[in-house]
Amino acid sequence: MGDELTEETGHEARAPAEGEADRRPGRRALLVGGAAAALGTVLLAREELSHLWWRLPGVDHAREDGAVDYRGAQWIAASSANLRRADRPDDYRIDRVVVHVTQGSYRSAVNVFQDSSHRAAAHYVVRRDGHVAQMIRELDVAFHAGNRQYNERSVGIEHEGFVEKASSFTDAMYASSARLTAAICARYGMPVDRTHVIGHAEVPGADHTDPGRHWDWDRYMKLVRRARTALA
Ligand SMILES: [Zn+2]
Repeated sequence: MGDELTEETGHEARAPAEGEADRRPGRRALLVGGAAAALGTVLLAREELSHLWWRLPGVDHAREDGAVDYRGAQWIAASSANLRRADRPDDYRIDRVVVHVTQGSYRSAVNVFQDSSHRAAAHYVVRRDGHVAQMIRELDVAFHAGNRQYNERSVGIEHEGFVEKASSFTDAMYASSARLTAAICARYGMPVDRTHVIGHAEVPGADHTDPGRHWDWDRYMKLVRRARTALA
């Protein structure tokens, strides 16, 4: 499950990283007007300039109501309070998939992600029977990892169930989630390995234990590799 702390305050309180502030789209938008004049000869990397350009209004990717990034997913919109609108992968590179377990039912996860007071949500929720809901576009930063940089660079997938209950993780869930992760890896050119496909517990600073010891990583990664090969 995503961190209860808001992404903005939670991570900053923990690690106010150098240069973190200007990763905020709001401040970056301000820089568009003022940076060159105010800072004079400051060296803005070419990449950063292109990011600034992409943040200008009207040049975001076109969005269509109800559109999903993964074919077969059901669109159920999360509350906009549980995400930060972005234009990935143009503004932030996507290079991680983060695996979560909901610690509750599919329905309760969907409900809290629709709740503006929850301040956390993942891009996808996978049900016991393999059904996939997409609640946040991959374009956007979902508040799921409890670490701002990891939120910005990752796609979060929740799985219905409980970390301490091995029977939560069904064949249908593993197979369906593996196809989803394979598609994400293919879309962003991510290698299928445990550096790029990680558990929430492996996010730096994470105080969550999901997906826990019952999550069968060997089995899962084998399924992801197989699905990735089938896509190629
Ligand atoms: Zn989690």
